[in-house]
Amino acid sequence: MAMYSTPAQVEADYTTLFKTFSTGKTKNIAWRKLQLKRLWYLINDNQDDIISALRADLNRPVFETFASEIRSVKDHILEYLDRIDEWAADEIPNAGFLFTRLAGARIRKEPLGVTLIIGPWNYPISLILQPLIAAIAAGCCALIKPSEVAPASEQFLAAQIPRYLDTDAVRVVTGGIEETTRLLEKRYDHIFFTGSTKVGKVVQAAAAKHLTPTVLELGGQGPSIVTDTADVDMAAKRCAYAKFVNAGQICLSVNHAFVDPKVYDEFLERTAYWFEAFLGKGKGSGEGDGNGEFCRIVNERNWERLTELLGRTKGRIVYGGKNNRERKYIQPTIISELTSTDSLMSEELFGPYLPVIKASYQEACRIISTGEHPLAIYLFTRSTSQISYVLNNTTSGGLTVNDVFLHASIRNTPFGGVGHSGTGYYHGKYGFLAFSQLRAVVHPPSWLERVVSFRYPPYTANAIRK
Ligand code: NAD
Repeated sequence: MAMYSTPAQVEADYTTLFKTFSTGKTKNIAWRKLQLKRLWYLINDNQDDIISALRADLNRPVFETFASEIRSVKDHILEYLDRIDEWAADEIPNAGFLFTRLAGARIRKEPLGVTLIIGPWNYPISLILQPLIAAIAAGCCALIKPSEVAPASEQFLAAQIPRYLDTDAVRVVTGGIEETTRLLEKRYDHIFFTGSTKVGKVVQAAAAKHLTPTVLELGGQGPSIVTDTADVDMAAKRCAYAKFVNAGQICLSVNHAFVDPKVYDEFLERTAYWFEAFLGKGKGSGEGDGNGEFCRIVNERNWERLTELLGRTKGRIVYGGKNNRERKYIQPTIISELTSTDSLMSEELFGPYLPVIKASYQEACRIISTGEHPLAIYLFTRSTSQISYVLNNTTSGGLTVNDVFLHASIRNTPFGGVGHSGTGYYHGKYGFLAFSQLRAVVHPPSWLERVVSFRYPPYTANAIRK
């Protein structure tokens, strides 16, 4: 078993971070920029180790790791370095002459303090580092708890973060449920959690004991809606892609697809075609694994969960269905002829299964809006009125038309869920604000007393201006 942080180590980390924050060291903008630059070098210097860690944890192809754990994080840091002065500067509210010009009203962005950042296993490096970038930029100290389910990535972070970042202000704690439960007993100034909805409730309950503010980035269960006007081949290709990347182990993946009866058969056929193409010709029909360029399922527990779910479906497997326990492989699989009460619809799939339900876009919206709000909706259509209909009749964290994932990669655009898919936002400026206290400050000159003296009791009727 991995060596996890001991309670004594955690206690020392905790005390150090609060002590550091109280010195004001992390409020210094030059300090924040230096840490961000060091974080950029942490990734740049160790790209091969990151790639190896993800190979070990998930058999992740190099291309996917480069895009999601290296390039995107480095770009994010550069964006923060570029904009930090602007975001950290006081904002002047549009509050009229008296407050703005005479009384110097402003909004200060102050760091919330010591934040606890807990991450998941599916993007085990970037989903720790992205919130850490925002926390450092905002001037916070951070206690980081990577997922124990991706041990190579966890060990990478535990080894490299102290080598590059100021250990007075950023500490890594390793551990599983027991250690995280102990961590959550303590009081923080802020908690940033990425993980399942189930554990999100545990985190929220722990935070509530201390009235600690939280950002919760939770389970996805996002559907695609393919309407009768869609470019069906493109919809199929992009839904298959969403299930192929990281073997569908993505909060933003397509969980299931609602497809209009008029294009249903074509969608099934084209999705099977694209799975086959992505896995490499002739490989997808057996136990092929795309020449090793297709992720495995993270661990035996999840592999069993997925194979059991498929075993209980009342739907028809139209493509795939194979698996291999030893390699923790699950073949991309399309399931048709199932209803919204099927076993495959009972939980977030987080794997390469694509249940396809026959439904018009109106029926899809009705089903979506009777359940919990998803993290994302992917709508495939050529009709602007259908886009308006779906926007007006559903709620979700984000929505992309005719593609997948894209709304989450627009710079300085809020990323987050709603209800059971999360609360709060980050990415770019929204990340900076997530770790900031917006403090209203006003400083009226003393001569203003003459102007405001009408407010004091005893009240006189003539003080009321009708
Ligand atoms: P998880 O909730 O099981 O674990 C997340 C973290 O919580 C881990 O660090 C783990 O050690 C800790 N943890 C687990 N059980 C705990 C408990 N009982 N008490 C305290 N801490 C506990 O999630 P996961 O399996 O690592 O990740 C998959 C989930 O994360 C999916 O639901 C996925 O949709 C979601 N996710 C969401 C986003 C997003 O941005 N919204 C991104 C990635 C993953």
